[in-house]
Amino acid sequence: MTTYFTYPPPELQKELADIANAVAAPGKGILAADESTSTVGKRLSGVGVENTEENRRDYRELLFTAPDDINKYISGVLLFHETVYQKASNGTPMMDLLKKKKLIPGIKVDKGVVPLMGSEGECTTQGLDDMSQRCAQYKKDGCQFAKWRCVLKIGRNTPSYHAMIENANVLARYASICQMNGLVPIVEPEVLPDGDHDLDRAQKVTETVLAFVYKALNDHHVYLEGTLLKPNMVTAGQSCSKKYKASEQAAATVTCLMRTVPPAVPGVTFLSGGMTEEDASIMLSEVNKAPGKKPWALTFSFGRALQASVLKAWSGKKENVEAAQTELMNRAKANSEAALGKYEPGSCKGAAAQADQFVKNHAY
Ligand code: 13P
Repeated sequence: MTTYFTYPPPELQKELADIANAVAAPGKGILAADESTSTVGKRLSGVGVENTEENRRDYRELLFTAPDDINKYISGVLLFHETVYQKASNGTPMMDLLKKKKLIPGIKVDKGVVPLMGSEGECTTQGLDDMSQRCAQYKKDGCQFAKWRCVLKIGRNTPSYHAMIENANVLARYASICQMNGLVPIVEPEVLPDGDHDLDRAQKVTETVLAFVYKALNDHHVYLEGTLLKPNMVTAGQSCSKKYKASEQAAATVTCLMRTVPPAVPGVTFLSGGMTEEDASIMLSEVNKAPGKKPWALTFSFGRALQASVLKAWSGKKENVEAAQTELMNRAKANSEAALGKYEPGSCKGAAAQADQFVKNHAY
């Protein structure tokens, strides 16, 4: 089989690789603040705040006006469409707040999951149709990377071949469109933690899913040096009766990545997937300490595990903004240490550090 292909021109390759490397810089990770309007509504209602445009703005303004030092721990921020075009309460565009702090803006471009007919409750992700135009506009407006989340489920007969091939292909098509438009694609095939499966099964499923993904990325001539991977850490199912140590789950995670993720990929930015803030920091640190070849940066792109304490401390009150920003700084610092394998368990106390973040069949 002769395979004709072209990669992006050298200037675009460099641009993409530079962005990916800056996002995955040592000891830095991503603040995932790209919850859709309905998902952020659930987070806000959890602390008694109504889901209005003004409250969403106030909350995200709080995140983006944290002390400048935040950029020692956070490289980039993932945004939802609304936030890219929103202004802070004093009229400053949110994007300018990020620019001032030298935080790289990223954008969620998928439009959520839809059911796959003929499957056992599996899904794919939609949003490709007008994506190229949207990406071109986002790039013009300052975004440098993008995210697309696919979801795979572990059950007796799942993930199916059908779901794995479809989700890998849609991720590859998304990645290719992003790169054409100068955005680094964060490729996110999330294997959900729902279920009673053990650690071995979680590892094997994640390996197989990632193998499908990298085959599809190759089929679509995606330039790997200009991509980032956002996987789940490999953990036993939420309701598995056997409990594993963080170091065991970290070893499974590293083995899984060693078997599937090419060294050309600059960084792996894990999602937190329902872990508590503290568990996510501990796991990330253990992953970085685990034995094995680790040619990629192993860092965070946490949503829930970076925001739980912030939300709780804020609770929608102006007088709590500073305390909430302190929570953000503390957990960001903890995760920065974890990304270097240096997080001391228990050293970061947070208002909701131990609070369960698991959401059944999680949507974003
Ligand atoms: P969690 O860290 O809350 O799992 O979310 C990260 C994310 O961006 C999921 O798409």
